[in-house]
Amino acid sequence: MSSDVRTSPDGETRTSRIVGSVDFHFPVASPSEEPAEIFKIVSGVRCQMPFKVKVASSAGIDEQGILETVSQVFDEVESTLSNWNPDSEINVVNKMKVGDPAHKMSPMLREVVLGAKEMVKKTNCAFDPSIAPLIDYYHSRALFKSSSNPTNENCKKNDESRIEKEVINVWKELLKAGYSSNPMDTRISKRVKKLLELSTWSSAFSVHKEFISKKHDEACLDLSGIAKGYTVDEIARRLPTSCMVEWGGDVKVVGKHPLGKNVWSVGVRKPRTLYELQEGVKRVKEEGQQGPVYTLYSSDKDGKNESDEYLAIIDLKDGDAIATSGDCEKVIEKDGKLYSHIINPKLGRLLEINSETLAQAVVVCKGSCMCADALSTAAISLEDPTKARELLEPFRTAFRYPVNDFLLFSRDGPRIIRLQVPGLEPKEIREKRLQSHEPAKVIVLGSGLAGMSAAIAAADAGAKVILLEKEEKTGGNSAKATSGINGWATETQAEQGVCDDERLFERDTHRSGLGGTTNPSLVRTLSIQSAPAGHWLMHRFNIPLKVLSQLGGHAAKRTHRAPPDDQGRPVPIGFFIMKTMRLVIEGEYSDKIEIRCGSKVLRLLSSDENDCKIVHGVVVEHKNGNRYEEYGDSVVVCTGGFGCSQSPDGLMARFRSDLLGFATTNGNFAQGEGVSICEELGAELIDMDKVQLHPTGFINPKDPQNPTKILAPEAIRGSGGILVNSSGKRFVNELDLRSIVSKAILTHCDRYVSGTYTGPPFAFCILSKESQELFGFPTLGFYKDKMGLFEECQDISAVANLIGCKEEVLIETLRSYSNASKIGNCPQTNKSIFPADISPESTDLIVGRITPSIHYTMGGVNINPAGEVQHTLTGHFGRHRHIRNLYAAGECTGGVHGGNRLAGNSLLECCVFGRIAGERAATVKQSEQCMFPQAKIDGSETHWKPVVLREVRNTDAVFGKNTIEARFNLYGALQHSGLDVGQFVGLRGECDGETLQGYFSPITRPDDEGVIGILARKDEKGGPITKLLNHIRPGSVLYMCAMGGLRLRFEGNSIKYRGREIKRIGLLAGGTGIAPMIQIIRAFSDFVRKAGPKANGYKMNLIFAAEGEHDVSYMKVLNDVKQDFPTYFSYYIKLNSPPLGWTEGVGFIETRDIKARMFHPAEAHDLCVLCGPPVFERSMIKLLNKNGFEENQIFSFSTMDRVSAK
Ligand SMILES: Cc1cc2nc3c(=O)[nH]c(=O)nc-3n(C[C@H](O)[C@H](O)[C@H](O)COP(=O)(O)OP(=O)(O)OC[C@H]3O[C@@H](n4cnc5c(N)ncnc54)[C@H](O)[C@@H]3O)c2cc1C
Repeated sequence: MSSDVRTSPDGETRTSRIVGSVDFHFPVASPSEEPAEIFKIVSGVRCQMPFKVKVASSAGIDEQGILETVSQVFDEVESTLSNWNPDSEINVVNKMKVGDPAHKMSPMLREVVLGAKEMVKKTNCAFDPSIAPLIDYYHSRALFKSSSNPTNENCKKNDESRIEKEVINVWKELLKAGYSSNPMDTRISKRVKKLLELSTWSSAFSVHKEFISKKHDEACLDLSGIAKGYTVDEIARRLPTSCMVEWGGDVKVVGKHPLGKNVWSVGVRKPRTLYELQEGVKRVKEEGQQGPVYTLYSSDKDGKNESDEYLAIIDLKDGDAIATSGDCEKVIEKDGKLYSHIINPKLGRLLEINSETLAQAVVVCKGSCMCADALSTAAISLEDPTKARELLEPFRTAFRYPVNDFLLFSRDGPRIIRLQVPGLEPKEIREKRLQSHEPAKVIVLGSGLAGMSAAIAAADAGAKVILLEKEEKTGGNSAKATSGINGWATETQAEQGVCDDERLFERDTHRSGLGGTTNPSLVRTLSIQSAPAGHWLMHRFNIPLKVLSQLGGHAAKRTHRAPPDDQGRPVPIGFFIMKTMRLVIEGEYSDKIEIRCGSKVLRLLSSDENDCKIVHGVVVEHKNGNRYEEYGDSVVVCTGGFGCSQSPDGLMARFRSDLLGFATTNGNFAQGEGVSICEELGAELIDMDKVQLHPTGFINPKDPQNPTKILAPEAIRGSGGILVNSSGKRFVNELDLRSIVSKAILTHCDRYVSGTYTGPPFAFCILSKESQELFGFPTLGFYKDKMGLFEECQDISAVANLIGCKEEVLIETLRSYSNASKIGNCPQTNKSIFPADISPESTDLIVGRITPSIHYTMGGVNINPAGEVQHTLTGHFGRHRHIRNLYAAGECTGGVHGGNRLAGNSLLECCVFGRIAGERAATVKQSEQCMFPQAKIDGSETHWKPVVLREVRNTDAVFGKNTIEARFNLYGALQHSGLDVGQFVGLRGECDGETLQGYFSPITRPDDEGVIGILARKDEKGGPITKLLNHIRPGSVLYMCAMGGLRLRFEGNSIKYRGREIKRIGLLAGGTGIAPMIQIIRAFSDFVRKAGPKANGYKMNLIFAAEGEHDVSYMKVLNDVKQDFPTYFSYYIKLNSPPLGWTEGVGFIETRDIKARMFHPAEAHDLCVLCGPPVFERSMIKLLNKNGFEENQIFSFSTMDRVSAK
């Protein structure tokens, strides 16, 4: 966007005012004088609020016509929604009494009332237009009429008793109206509370379909705020062309910008500063305005703020709406304090205007200005910026009109909170990070979606890529996918108003995977990166993922596929993606990615370093039989699953011999070779026995014995296809998990018999005309007409005939299904989603035969969220090590889908982890060996560097309650941090407009490759940064710098501290000192393991003091280290409140513990490290000093170098 547009936006939004506070009958002004070279502009004032309509100029648009439309909408709104027009429909409602017949709402009132009702519910009453009586109370009674001297206590008291009197009057009136409570209780808050109770939607109105009635006589609706948004929506809706409509700060845009820009820009005005408000009040007082309610804008000649700056320029796309609520359109002065005219509907009091409270809330919604308005009002009413953010955030996804953007502004700082899409690394940071490595050569195995995604991501990160595919064609099983790819918070979901969120998606994935391993870190990465993956496919490759379906096991419509093409032909999604990617690779990437088909990889080339495997390349067999070695810097294995492995020495025979002989939907290439070649190098395999049977592989009646079945896609059942057995009875919820549907077919259905052939159990799949339409006739044509897999039946009688069941049984089945679909619940199968109806009266049906077929192998090589293949060796502290330079993604990996894959999650997995693995594989050659090279030289590097969050692990079970380990990617996959053992890092980031910072001792070792992990608390004890750590998601960026600390160096066969040789390390630890303690123990055990016999004479003794057994949940880990290295490591735990049966130390650490469990007397090569809270460390220093430890033999984290107790 050009800068001139930035300084001169297309529209403007400022703190909006309530409609109708003054004369509504203000005439519509004539078209403005503004030049209209680009736009046709009509503007005027209505209800003292300026409006402006900008219409993209094109032939045939007449300003008069626009003005008429605008006028017409205003008039209709006035006669329906205005509280200030005594005859308006809303006032008819407000004048109703309890017992009056319910009012039948006009379509306009109904739309606004239902919208308001939804917003009340969704904002948990932060927005509530039935608060009107309370507003009235404030307006007409105590507060506004008071004039007090804040310094005079008596005056204050008088004021209070007067207020109280007023309240009692209100109270009496309420009692008269029949509301019982304790009239003796005269405390104001209780009165307001009561009034508040009555002024809430649920206790004030009852709305049923088209009717509204009152629950008490005083109930009153003030819809003016939301009506303003409605008015803007309605004008935009009625204008026949691209336009921007703006009224009183509410803005909506429709269509394309006339200059051909992608967006329209709207400037959001900055609210007044506190000083400006105070001065404004002073000025209007001087001008004669009677207090204490002051309308500041009206005194401004041009309606602008004094500080006429923009807070932000916000881009709006077709259909976007923006609304702003501010705290200071009307200012109330009382006791020297300023209050807003806005009431917190939950607490029933006016909002105070000060520097910390929310001054302005700006909300951009897709599709509805009315909702944007309600949400900005709700947000501002909460006062607290963080609470407002928490209110708005869920609307980003779980809402019909999703919030695209919001901006919350408080005057302190000023503090600005902007909507951040979780898990996105800003482009500039990514580019800078990628500049820090040398180009690598990456070998990718397999040309399915995982392989192609990895290849493209690696090339984008600067690598030269060789893609090896054993088949002649590229695409693998990915090219067979038809149901689609999952994603939540996608553009398509937003466009279609689908509510979805990470909790639902992750819950569904874990639930589906029960019985197997769904690694929470992998699932979270899959989830958070799902929308970016979809975005990548849509915008990088122009894949129109515009059709959504809700498949089995999903809580929302989130499986995306492409609509039929221009000629109405189906677009099989997997094939389309793979074809497009190949074309892009052969075009744009021809000099970066080389695809070699007919090249089967036989094994990996590797070497050993210490006990670490390092991959250098692959052995390839060309289709002509020639074998050769291909060397590279890293290898990404994307060879798919083993669904077609039927040989006696294959993976299926090894892990699921019971499935040998089953039909499959997989291509013959799916033999699982990639899994085997990784296993040869020691890769850990997980969930290899978890094989998914797809319930619906088509049986072709002309070729029933063929083991390869064409898949009847999930979407067939997703479009309402039902399953019945040979008796004509349903037996399962068709939309249940695949595992459940498959099992039900195997249990409840007869075997397929044709002549002498007896096949597997099978079911009939019946589609009504409505289902066929929903699924799409073009795609259906492929299965029905081209492949002959469906037969047509005119009516139910014909279906019964085809199935060979009794007609009355089938009729009964369909009748109860149809009834269930009407009430939304089938008691027999628990089906609750009915995409289409089918009943005994249905005609033009089609019927196919389906059988469970091997479809997907959930197990495979274990990877971490960076796509690194994990070695079988499990280290202490539950850690894996990765095989260096080896990455994997897609169906050949395990740990994402557990016991059963959720439909649509496989293509997603390929895309998400393919991209991650490919990019990580491209970063193995770093220009710098360390992320913080300066730290290596002089101990710290205060330069903050961006780090991308890889994963957050819940470590409650390992390191104690409420702990997490946050792991961040170093720039390079093989880079070290450059820190010494015991050295701190600073972590910094922005959350809710505040910069939060914390200091941590890493829990990972300095020589861990490509990652740095910190142990943190996730409760409030962890300090303010906890909020940030709980907030970020994989892919988010924080800033890290290297600080000082212990700086213990494990160099080859020696340990050094400040240049001094250390042989014995004592650890006195407790409370918060776990992270450094664990890091030191890890580093020491690693040192002993590597040094072998040369470690003789080295020792580490730990004494750990804790309150109770729950504080030492990692004891098993310590025990493991002790068992592995008994001569080198010992530990002793002292508990203040020991559990029953406790056999170790009791009480606090004292002299006898030092003498018996530490090194005593201390020698020159000893170092005692204290890890714990400051108070603990100080008392330990005293104890050690008393026992003869010199200053240089003690290191204390909390006192750092100041170790003397004197
Ligand atoms: C019929 C069908 C429909 C499906 N529908 C969906 C769907 O709608 N949504 C969804 O999410 N998932 C679906 N799936 C699952 C999904 O398509 C696959 O699991 C996923 O695409 C696997 O992708 P991949 O890249 O890991 O492997 P693949 O796409 O299978 O690619 C692996 C490639 O590696 C090659 N290869 C194997 N071994 C070697 C070797 N030794 N050397 C060189 N190359 C080798 C293979 O030839 C193959 O081309 C479906 C699967 C099938 C079979």
